Amino acid sequence: MKKTIRDVDVSGKRVLVRADFNVPLRDGEITDDARIRACLPTIEDLLQRGARVILCSHLGRPKGREQEELRLTPVARRLSELLARKVDFLEDCVGERVRQAVEGMGDGDVILLENTRFHPEEKQNDPAFAAKLAEPAELFVNDAFGTAHRAHASTEGVARHLPAVAGLLMEKELLRLSQVRDAAEPPFAAVMGGAKISDKIGVIGNLLDRLDLLLAGGGMANTLLRVGGVEIGRSLAEEDQLETAARIADRAGSRLVLPVDVVVAEDPRTGRGNRTVRVGNIPENSMILDVGPETLERFRKRLDGVRTVVWNGPLGAFEHPPFDRGTLAMAGILADLNAETIIGGGDTGAAVARAGVVDRVSHVSTGGGAFLSFIQGETLPGLAVLQDK
Ligand code: ADP
Ligand code: MG
Repeated sequence: MKKTIRDVDVSGKRVLVRADFNVPLRDGEITDDARIRACLPTIEDLLQRGARVILCSHLGRPKGREQEELRLTPVARRLSELLARKVDFLEDCVGERVRQAVEGMGDGDVILLENTRFHPEEKQNDPAFAAKLAEPAELFVNDAFGTAHRAHASTEGVARHLPAVAGLLMEKELLRLSQVRDAAEPPFAAVMGGAKISDKIGVIGNLLDRLDLLLAGGGMANTLLRVGGVEIGRSLAEEDQLETAARIADRAGSRLVLPVDVVVAEDPRTGRGNRTVRVGNIPENSMILDVGPETLERFRKRLDGVRTVVWNGPLGAFEHPPFDRGTLAMAGILADLNAETIIGGGDTGAAVARAGVVDRVSHVSTGGGAFLSFIQGETLPGLAVLQDK
């Protein structure tokens, strides 16, 4: 078990907290602040105990340079509202200006640093950059579970320069997810969707051996359908993943359940040509955008009686209704199960919230990739560097 903020004295200390404030934005506004709220218990606990809190995070993919639309300004504003106190926002995450601002802090003050990914050294996990990040602080707290599978300067490198412990969100994720990793009660099922097979099913490796059932939907099921010889028209597929897909299908055997009917259209935005067809009858000019009702019924039947289910990845292009039906229905199916139901991923979590069933599932993890890596027993670099109890 990892040390957490509860195990250390923080009073009067300068504490650098790596949060996951990678929130969805539209026109400069935060459309879902769940990730900010998830970090509040850690921040509030530190403040109550008289720490000086220096927050940092990445946001989006700025490719190592400053980008106006990926500044953390909206996060600073929202955070200040949620904490009901002033949050001092700095225009960089390292350097002289940061050092000065931190020097001027009093107990209970909060500073938010600018997007760590504005520096290319962040993703390179550059040791000199990590040292600069660490310099103004006396303690490092990692609360960014969703980024813990990446060895970046602000998640891994920085912890080599400071005493490093887990935040309360990180602790909660570890407690809930180690139970699935170490002691998932069988029958054990996984529901997988999302856009790409390469970031999903292709990486489930060890998990596959422990699964009794693998239900596949979303864009990534298209490549599996292709392996079975299905003509998928203009649907999203990854030709370079056909071999991986074939291997997985082979290993999974009868445990793998694929869509038998799908909702297709010419375009997800206009919804033109929207109809439900059997997988053998997909029109050449259309694309698969959701699973069909018969597939959902099949999924529901197969899940009946399972004791543990993990779900990552929407079953369709759920941000474009009506192609959200399969995904929302799956959220309902899991909510009705008498089983341990663990959901992970930013988009999947948002879908579960939209379906209104967050309270009826066992756990919604803030991690997508980190969640899949962790439950199959991989070592997460951002976690490995934290002190043990
Ligand atoms: P999470 O964030 O929960 O880990 P992903 O980011 O992997 O999930 O997948 C979500 C994306 O997958 C969404 O943008 C959704 O539109 C897309 N998607 C799901 N099914 C399809 C499909 N059939 N065609 C195209 N995109 C799809
Ligand atoms: Mg996503």
